[in-house]
Amino acid sequence: MGESTCDLLRRGNCAYRVEALTAHTNVDALARLAIEMKAGFAAIGDPSRYGALRDALAGTGIACGAGPDSLDEAAQRPADWVMSAIVGAAGLSPTLSAIRRGAIVALANKETLVCAGDLVMAEARRHKSVILPVDSEHNAIHQVFDFERPEGVEKIILTASGGPFRLWSEEDMAKATLAEAIAHPNWSMGDKISIDSATLMNKGLELIEACHLFPVNEDQVDVVVHPESIIHSLVSYVDGSVLAQLGSPDMRTPIAYTLAWPERMAGPSPRLDLIQIAKLTFEAPDNKRFPALSLARQAQRSGGQAPAILNAANEVAVRGFLDGAINFLDIVTVVHLTLDQMGQGSIGSLEEVNEIDAEARSRAAQFVQNRA
Ligand code: MG
Repeated sequence: MGESTCDLLRRGNCAYRVEALTAHTNVDALARLAIEMKAGFAAIGDPSRYGALRDALAGTGIACGAGPDSLDEAAQRPADWVMSAIVGAAGLSPTLSAIRRGAIVALANKETLVCAGDLVMAEARRHKSVILPVDSEHNAIHQVFDFERPEGVEKIILTASGGPFRLWSEEDMAKATLAEAIAHPNWSMGDKISIDSATLMNKGLELIEACHLFPVNEDQVDVVVHPESIIHSLVSYVDGSVLAQLGSPDMRTPIAYTLAWPERMAGPSPRLDLIQIAKLTFEAPDNKRFPALSLARQAQRSGGQAPAILNAANEVAVRGFLDGAINFLDIVTVVHLTLDQMGQGSIGSLEEVNEIDAEARSRAAQFVQNRA
């Protein structure tokens, strides 16, 4: 996301300059972009990489920091627009920092809304922060949702590529290798989100996010499998009209939308050639082979702690699969077991979100260990 955002900025079609940049562990890319984009501050999430970052930026005048506090510091710097694309629950605190100073937040981190959607949206209203979704599905809905007349909306329809195992049997999925699971058909993404796309948990998390970003309930969100990933999502209205947003699968389109909002800016994404595409296909998601979707729907219906538990357990289970400790089908089983074991209480504060997150992680880790 950071690389794509910088790609748009360096083309000069919008007026922003870069205040701060962050990365998780990749010092080389961070230092290279910080120098190129003339950033004032660079933060690396992994504290053990601090020395390397300091050395790489020596003599440039760019301030640097490491660890969670410095990610927060980056979000607190006075930028009008913030790209929130840190993966996992680690993105929650910096995102809230940006929201609390009223920034426009381009939100690519899923966990912020999945774990703490009610809290985060309330803070955004209080501080008049505008949250613009970057995820292609929510970005599509944002583009076609009539926020002035939400009562005219009947439902929203999230499209899903179906992932690399769309046509696989459960038996084959149980034996799937890491390389097979991260081979996403249409988008190139990080390992975590690639695995989430393969289990369809990604679509489950997106369903939960949609209920926070848009004034709809869980039963007003449909999911349809659309393997070509050309229609990024749709809004259906009470008069029978359905509005969709289409485009090539290139994240620079949704990022450009958030950079220029409410205007439009020129972007470099390949243009759609409808005649060349010729046909688009759709099918129902298979809830039996991909139970993650109904699990997430159930968690959103239960509300309270359930979505945060779902998310934390999923992060741990995906890690377990990436490390070779559990098989592919075990990922969703671990999430299911963790949800069943934990309570259904409410969540009132960020501290409570962190407590629930920690407890769900430790229980999920136990289930991973038991299955390994
Ligand atoms: Mg998506």
